[in-house]
Amino acid sequence: MDDVTAEATDLLQQLIRNACVNDGSPASGGEARSVDLLASYLEGAGLDMQRFEAAPGRDNLIVRLEGSDPSAPTLILMGHTDVVPVNPDRWRHDPFGGELIDGEVWGRGAVDMLNLTASMALTTRRLARDGFRPRGTLIFLAVADEEALGTYGAGWLVGHEPDAVRADYVITEFGGVRMPLPSATGPKLPIMVAEKGSHWCTLRVRGTPGHGSMPFRTDNALVKAAEVVRRIAEYQPETEIHEVWERFVRSVDLPPDMAGMLLDPAGVAQVAATSPDIGLARMVHACTHTTFAPTVMHGGVKTNVIPDTVDLQVDIRTLPGQGGEEVEAMLAEALGDLWGSVDVSSQSDDRATASEMDTPLWDSLRRVTRKLAPGADVVPFLLVGATDARFFRRAGATAYGAGLFSERISFAEFASMFHGDNERIDQESLRLSTELWDAVARDLLG
Ligand SMILES: [Zn+2]
Repeated sequence: MDDVTAEATDLLQQLIRNACVNDGSPASGGEARSVDLLASYLEGAGLDMQRFEAAPGRDNLIVRLEGSDPSAPTLILMGHTDVVPVNPDRWRHDPFGGELIDGEVWGRGAVDMLNLTASMALTTRRLARDGFRPRGTLIFLAVADEEALGTYGAGWLVGHEPDAVRADYVITEFGGVRMPLPSATGPKLPIMVAEKGSHWCTLRVRGTPGHGSMPFRTDNALVKAAEVVRRIAEYQPETEIHEVWERFVRSVDLPPDMAGMLLDPAGVAQVAATSPDIGLARMVHACTHTTFAPTVMHGGVKTNVIPDTVDLQVDIRTLPGQGGEEVEAMLAEALGDLWGSVDVSSQSDDRATASEMDTPLWDSLRRVTRKLAPGADVVPFLLVGATDARFFRRAGATAYGAGLFSERISFAEFASMFHGDNERIDQESLRLSTELWDAVARDLLG
């Protein structure tokens, strides 16, 4: 095994073992542990380092390789250090063991996204040690709290330390996995140029309390809430073919009839409803609709009391161009005559963000990817989840989700490992992403 692969593997194993589990509460995460690790790893390479503690234990690290020309562009490589919780009973190996088994590193964060955080740190260190003195500035950012709302991580840095994280270009998770599409011109690897918005809200369903022994003709909030859930689950929001989706479909080189269907609202809805590939169906649907997922319900106080209040949480993901107003109108449409029985409170109204597709960063990622993965090409894609890229897009940067993975991991496996069980990454993918960052940094910052 070459040195780079061994070093990336070792760093990833240590990041996994730090178990910076973010359960959404301010006291969780403990990303300071991984900032300690990365700071000592990067020490002595001649890099400027700044550390910011957004809240106790919620540390962020900014590492700069200063360019010689202030007018040249600045590139940020950004990785998060936190991970989501696990259910260890469902794993085949210790989720925080970081074991290397048959060429794969196992553990929570192996694909989301400690693998990339490790390869970004390694690249930054190696470039500095090799005496790389670019015209533009390279920044490596290790951020906390990506798995909640970025409050103590990227959101905090952009809000509190804008000068320290000002950049023209930002690369973060994720991309570079071969998409299972029948392209006429070789494998297609996505670069995330945009991401959907998230609008999380709670619907409080109201009823009237009463005795559980006489339920007939009562106004039971739980019974009403069940119907609210059913209507939300059945709701069919409008299909929308927006710019990124259209660019994606046109650049994949699909058989013409398939491309035609995916560019037509009725065709898209049909593919989503009937495709035997359930992963593809979900993705096609999520990329072309604002989606509504009822996820949490709390209600009732005692077995013999008819409940008067139920709180229902809904995870809503919005397409570009939609926000709180549009979401409320859709909810009202979904609920019909029950709309008057609920109070809606929104926890977040984070609109979709998008970067331009014709940029030097795009050209560079494309050039390098084609070199490292002969025969393959990149295509623009819309991420249906949320990443820290949104903070930087709003601050005016071009931000993409990118990466490069080996053929060992299929798209379906990759997708199922995000926040799923048995998360792992092969060492070849670690090496490839390191080579990608290295070549793009040299290319862009020269
Ligand atoms: Zn992530």
